[in-house]
Amino acid sequence: MINSLSNADVAVIGAGTMGIGIAQVAAQAGHRVFLYDIAAEAGQKALAALRSRLMKRVEAGKADAAATDALLARIAPAAALPDLAGCGLVIEAVAERLEIKQSLFRDLEAICSADTLFASNTSSLSITAIASALQHPQRMAGLHFFNPAPLMKLVEIVRGLETSADVLTALQALARRWGKQPVLCRSTPGFIVNRVARPFYAETLRALEEQIASPATLDAVVRDAGGFAMGPLQLTDLIGQDVNYAVTESVFSAFCFDPRFQPSLAQQELVLAGHLGRKSGRGFYRYDNAGTQEEAAFAAPVSAPAAQITLHGDWSSLPGLAGALQTNANAIIEAGQTSPFACINEVTFMLTNGKTATQTAAETGKPVVLFDLSVDYANASVIAISPALQNGEQHNATIIALLQSLGKRVIVLPDYPGLLTLRTVAMLCNEALDVVNKRIASAADTDTAMRYGVNYPLGPLAWGARLGWKTLLQVMDNLHEFYGEPRYRPTPLLRQLAAGYPPADFSLTTGDRAA
Ligand code: NAD
Repeated sequence: MINSLSNADVAVIGAGTMGIGIAQVAAQAGHRVFLYDIAAEAGQKALAALRSRLMKRVEAGKADAAATDALLARIAPAAALPDLAGCGLVIEAVAERLEIKQSLFRDLEAICSADTLFASNTSSLSITAIASALQHPQRMAGLHFFNPAPLMKLVEIVRGLETSADVLTALQALARRWGKQPVLCRSTPGFIVNRVARPFYAETLRALEEQIASPATLDAVVRDAGGFAMGPLQLTDLIGQDVNYAVTESVFSAFCFDPRFQPSLAQQELVLAGHLGRKSGRGFYRYDNAGTQEEAAFAAPVSAPAAQITLHGDWSSLPGLAGALQTNANAIIEAGQTSPFACINEVTFMLTNGKTATQTAAETGKPVVLFDLSVDYANASVIAISPALQNGEQHNATIIALLQSLGKRVIVLPDYPGLLTLRTVAMLCNEALDVVNKRIASAADTDTAMRYGVNYPLGPLAWGARLGWKTLLQVMDNLHEFYGEPRYRPTPLLRQLAAGYPPADFSLTTGDRAA
């Protein structure tokens, strides 16, 4: 039985970006912390930098001087590994190399007591592989913090093949005491967040490669119309193109080159050119004052006579849109159980379903304008649409004028299947369902991880449930058919849910949250 870790001394190994952040979190929670780094002076330097950061907060009146002094006094640099012998928990945040981590834990096992828990902050290595170096691999788990560790609430607690249940329970309780939101997952490539998030970048990178629109326009679709905090390209510039590309490559190869995770050649080009994003002054955007910053392309103001609008079906999965059309444009409601669509004069206006507008117009014999997904149509400043090639100018003008009259800026994309936000959310949800299907994490933990780890406006599964599993399956099937690529294959659990047969343990109820 594992001891409670509440009063344990904590060793943090590696005094880099993550190590010093984790040391701060542990000291803040009242633990005595020993910070060890192989590089002489690294611990001292990291502590001096932490002291100066925290003192700035004290000077700005944002932190208490006495509490800050006490926190800093609880962290001591350790000169050598044997100094860590008395710690109840060792958290490793050293270089991301399997042999380094394995050799470190092998040494620690000879030094620490049999009760000491071992945790690794690895982002991409297998916990099972790291623990295989131990005589007692059951004492080791992943404790994956996000950067910056003191600010990011999420911690993924990762179970290796041999990790004992007691270790997981102790780490979950500890993470909660540290004010973190723990989620539990099995050791698989990318754990939850770095795996499920891949399509967020991949779909926009693909649209860019297919010359659908400029980076600024694509980002505006996902951010300002879709409701994500940042556009994917803007975010990769912030993360670093090299770092983001390396994560994708690592997940791709760890999944035995499953095409779902295929890296983008457009991103590889940036990396090869040294255009790494903000840190190098240039990525998809410029940060060096050279060249002009490109703006998103919005439709020019259009005027058209007021249209006759009838809303058909159930619009509850698209919050805010039917209300805006009804209140501001006097739409008539013909409610029903069918998927939502509007007849605006003779134009069919509907959410993309993974087919192109041109395909749908050919099937129905009517002009068609598709719109993209938004988490909140009422408050989004932008809406993205794509018209069928068969439409006349006046058909498109009617729709653009109507949306502009609702106060929206309109982005007109070429006729792209699934548009951008919907195909991204469908792929995120498909990936999240694959995680659940393979019992890597629960549905609730998967959604929690994506909300806290990458700040999505809704968990992908909650979003999928809101849209309806049948709708989602249709999008995935249509994308799959359009491209003929296994990248878009629906996961078996999506088919089960769409058919109305969820497994007994499929629950989206979000677990308890840290305050
Ligand atoms: P970093 O390069 O900033 O720091 C690593 C530190 O470890 C260095 O100070 C180095 O001297 C020290 N070190 C290397 N080998 C050592 C050894 N054998 N013994 C003791 N110290 C050693 O790296 P980082 O960004 O803090 O990442 C550390 C770990 O955390 C990696 O496993 C990484 O995958 C993971 N991680 C990083 C992030 C991130 O955003 N940076 C986020 C989550 C997890």
